[in-house]
Amino acid sequence: MKIIDFKTPARLEDAGRTLKELGEAGLLLAGGTSLVFNKGKAGRTAVDIRRLGLSGIKELPEAFLVGALTPVAELQEFRAKGWALDRVARAFATQQIRNMSTFGGNLARVFRWNDFPVALLALECEMTVRTLTGQDRPVRGSEFLAASPRRFLPDGDILTAVKVGRLASGWGFGYRKEVRTHADFSLATAAVAARVVSGRIVELRAAAGAALPFPKRLEKVESLLVGKAVPRKGLDEDAFLAEAREGCAGLPWKGECGFSDAYAAALAPVAVRDAVAAAVRDAQEGNHG
Ligand SMILES: Cc1cc2nc3c(=O)[nH]c(=O)nc-3n(C[C@H](O)[C@H](O)[C@H](O)COP(=O)(O)OP(=O)(O)OC[C@H]3O[C@@H](n4cnc5c(N)ncnc54)[C@H](O)[C@@H]3O)c2cc1C
Repeated sequence: MKIIDFKTPARLEDAGRTLKELGEAGLLLAGGTSLVFNKGKAGRTAVDIRRLGLSGIKELPEAFLVGALTPVAELQEFRAKGWALDRVARAFATQQIRNMSTFGGNLARVFRWNDFPVALLALECEMTVRTLTGQDRPVRGSEFLAASPRRFLPDGDILTAVKVGRLASGWGFGYRKEVRTHADFSLATAAVAARVVSGRIVELRAAAGAALPFPKRLEKVESLLVGKAVPRKGLDEDAFLAEAREGCAGLPWKGECGFSDAYAAALAPVAVRDAVAAAVRDAQEGNHG
């Protein structure tokens, strides 16, 4: 796809209106890293929204408000109690791509290898969409991420911010990504947030991606693991393998990069197992309390 013209609107409302007027001939430009994946030869006009003040991370009492244009590199550098996205950002492609890609760009169009949709299903989140009529529309993360986000972003509507859950005391977070080589596209990803009280998992949110058409909460894994005893000493990843396998069985796992669907079905529970173990350790170490 070729960019044949650039528009740099001074206000969000102007950006929305321009995108609406351009329709198929226009393209909202954030970090621009997905252009390389766009097929088709038609020239399009890019509407650049990088200078509209939509970047940055604000701390709220129980969450973080992350601007849609915040570069992934900034998510990696940010530190605060209960913040977990730095670990996800570290697993994201290469430093050059982390510098360019934006948080919102990773959520507004979901490629199967995208890291943040999976992590946000485990952490919980809420999107804010500025509509063409100037309203800020909240959209629950679980709905936004359940299928193509375009359902919530018709031409002219813009994702402006995401409220990301803050891990409270007793919670831990784990993220795992299976790749063939460093910085390769993911074969399977898994994210887990777990709350551990008195040596037992009392709450757990698990999600998987990359080997599924869209990232998905793993309710069966969650119900199998809640209540499980997790001793502080001598706990290894394999303690969660049986539940991960049973809970992942029957989902439509899809092999990519030349791997079979059966391979993906065997690999995904391994990523889930490792993410559960990482989340439990994080909780046991009291990193967020
Ligand atoms: C070689 C390579 C490897 C990569 N590896 C990974 C990886 O390992 N993990 C990973 O997660 N990602 C990876 N990415 C990045 C990912 O594929 C996307 O390209 C990236 O997330 C898009 O973000 P962006 O800011 O560049 O958005 P853009 O490319 O500018 O936009 C992406 C799409 O979303 C729309 N859009 C963007 N922002 C908004 C908004 N605020 N509101 C409404 N619509 C919007 C755009 O119109 C466009 O359709 C990789 C990219 C490359 C090139």
